[in-house]
Amino acid sequence: MRLKDKVAVITGAASGIGRQSAIRFASEGAHIVAVDLNRQAGEETAEQVEANGGKAIFVEADVSKASDCQRMVVAAEESFGKLNVMFNNAGIMLGEDGDAESTTESVWEKTMAVNLRGVFLGCKYGIPAIRRAGGGSIINTASFVALMGAATPQIAYTASKGGVLAMTRELAMIHARENIRVNALCPGPLHTELLMNFLDTEAKRNRRLVHLPMGRFGEAKEMAEAAVFLASDESSYITGTDFLVDGGLTAAYVTPE
Ligand code: NAD
Repeated sequence: MRLKDKVAVITGAASGIGRQSAIRFASEGAHIVAVDLNRQAGEETAEQVEANGGKAIFVEADVSKASDCQRMVVAAEESFGKLNVMFNNAGIMLGEDGDAESTTESVWEKTMAVNLRGVFLGCKYGIPAIRRAGGGSIINTASFVALMGAATPQIAYTASKGGVLAMTRELAMIHARENIRVNALCPGPLHTELLMNFLDTEAKRNRRLVHLPMGRFGEAKEMAEAAVFLASDESSYITGTDFLVDGGLTAAYVTPE
C-alpha cells in the first residue's frame, strides 16, 4: 500500500477531486479527514471510504476561516494521532467571474478568500502538525490557468491560482530541509461540476475543448491518481513543482486533428 498509515486532511472532499482523492488515498491505506462546507455530501464521502474498508472522519469547515482550518488539523491529530499529508484542494469558480471590467470586487474577494487564503490557512496550521509528524507532503490544488491565459475570462479565479502556485514554490523552499514537500497540482479542464457549471453552454465547452490535445475533459479520478503519487514517498525528491495533469494542454501549440 502506497500510503499505509499516513494521515491525510483533504479539503473540498465532498465532491470532484477531493472526494475521489479521499476514496483513492484510503484504498492505499491512508486515514482520511474529509473537510468541506457541505456536510451532507462530505459525510457521504466519509461513508464511502468506510464502506470500502477505509478509515475516515468528516469535519465541516470553511477553509477561508482560520479557526476552521485550525480545527481540521486538530481533528486529524486527535482522531488519528498525526498529520502527514495536507491536501489543500477546496476551490470555487464563480459564474460572475469574468474580465477585469465586468468582475465585481465582491466576486474578487470571495474567490481570493477561498482559493488563496484557504490554501494559506491550510498551510499555516498544517505545517506545524506535519513537522510534529517528522515531515510529509502538502499538495495545493492550483490549475493550468496559473500558467496559461484562459480563453474564457475568469480573472479572479486565474489570479487566485497564480497565487497558489507562487505560494507553493516559496513554501517548498522554506521547508525543503524539514522533510516537508510542497507541490501544486495543476489540473487541466475537468469534467466536474465546478467547470461544467461555469462552461454552461455548448459553445463555451467547445471553445475549451478545441485546445485539448486529447479532445476530452479530464476526470477527477485522474487527478486523484496524481495526488496519490505526490502524497506518497514515491515522490520523495519532488518539491516546488507545478505538477501538470492536463492531457497535454500546456504542451500544445496547435492541437492534433
Ligand atoms: P468541486 O466543485 O467538484 O469540488 C469543490 C469542493 O470544495 C466542493 O465540495 C465545495 O463544497 C468545497 N468548497 C468550496 N468552498 C469551500 C470552503 N470555503 N471551505 C470548504 N470547502 C469548500 O470542484 P473540483 O473540480 O473537484 O475542484 C477542486 C479543485 O480543483 C479546486 O481548487 C478547483 O479550483 C481546482 N481545479 C478544478 C478544475 C476543473 O476543471 N474542475 C481545473 C483546475 C483546477
